[in-house]
Amino acid sequence: MSRHPAHSEHLETLAIHAGRQPDPATGAVMPPIHLSTTFERAADGSSIDGYVYTRTENPNRRSLEECLAALEGGATAAAFGSGMAAVAAIFQALGAHAHVIFPEDVYFGTGRLLREVLGPWELDYSVVDMTELDAVRAALCPQTRLIWVETPSNPLLKITDIAAIAALAHAAGARCAVDNTWPSPVGQQPLALGADLVMHATTKYLGGHSDLLGGAVIAKEADAFFERIRLVQTLGGAVPSPFDCWLLMRSIRTLPYRMRAHAANAQRVAEFLAGHPAVAVVHYPALAAHPGHAIARRQMTLFGGMLSIQVRGGATEALAVAARVKLFTRATSLGGVESLIEHRASVEGPHTTTPPNLLRISIGLEHPDDLIADLRQALEG
Ligand SMILES: *Cc1c(COP(=O)(O)O)cnc(C)c1O
Repeated sequence: MSRHPAHSEHLETLAIHAGRQPDPATGAVMPPIHLSTTFERAADGSSIDGYVYTRTENPNRRSLEECLAALEGGATAAAFGSGMAAVAAIFQALGAHAHVIFPEDVYFGTGRLLREVLGPWELDYSVVDMTELDAVRAALCPQTRLIWVETPSNPLLKITDIAAIAALAHAAGARCAVDNTWPSPVGQQPLALGADLVMHATTKYLGGHSDLLGGAVIAKEADAFFERIRLVQTLGGAVPSPFDCWLLMRSIRTLPYRMRAHAANAQRVAEFLAGHPAVAVVHYPALAAHPGHAIARRQMTLFGGMLSIQVRGGATEALAVAARVKLFTRATSLGGVESLIEHRASVEGPHTTTPPNLLRISIGLEHPDDLIADLRQALEG
């Protein structure tokens, strides 16, 4: 554990201090990057602070995990080399013949992992519209071990009531895991709402600069189930590099301030788009017209930097808007300081269920007037 554990209820303070301490060897205020794969043992065979081999434990990773656990209000965390490795670890930890329930509107990679990789390994699953509690209730069965929640969802920004789903899961003897990548811990605290596990693609807002790949699982309890996730992490070996852990710790320091600016910019852009005649629908939970607005207001402290729109017309019209942007970059992914736009159905390929006229937009930290001006000329071009 860190020698100066940060005790604060404020994310701004935790983001800067949790999991960190000046380097005990040199006093360096910024931590060194521990690239060594192996650690010397004492003459009696004991290890220093549990460090033996870097796949099992590394100082940069331990510090990142302490920080992530503090930000989500969890007891413990495991960091991975990608968001998908973190998703896979949760499902692999369930064991054989488990049944899971997941939402139809879910990160494309998560859906594919369940259908194409874990399904053939006999993980049983039901896909439901998770905004309908009755649909979730009807899908529960004695083998249900986990309900997977993603809210706001991808790419339609549907809002799921985390407290209600967690209660359904617990009544059925199952766990509730929440992919909290889009809101980040600054916008939503699933563990406080009753969830058992939080998953992040740290590639996105936690990394914040589109220059690293990573994932994490944060658990409310350091229980036997989390120990299985830890086993998948250290034996499966999909661990992040010390450099990526270090980069993440650097980025997390500014996370609360970045998230506020992402959300404020997204709100301005969403309001502009909602009033534009070339736009048929804006999916952003801060808008009063959004079907999940009331739940979002209850469970989110910030509405986040992601939105999607359906333009009037079809794929051709949507692609034409994306082709005309100048300040936005046409690229997938999200959470960086630069704004991105993508025609999601093209990115997801032939098996997509995304509406063909949908553009997914990641609002960055440029001035909102410039973002609005660029979208206006692209819509009116
Ligand atoms: C990006 C993303 C993932 C997957 O993360 P990778 O780091 O790309 O593996 C999972 N869930 C959501 C919501 C994401 O945006």
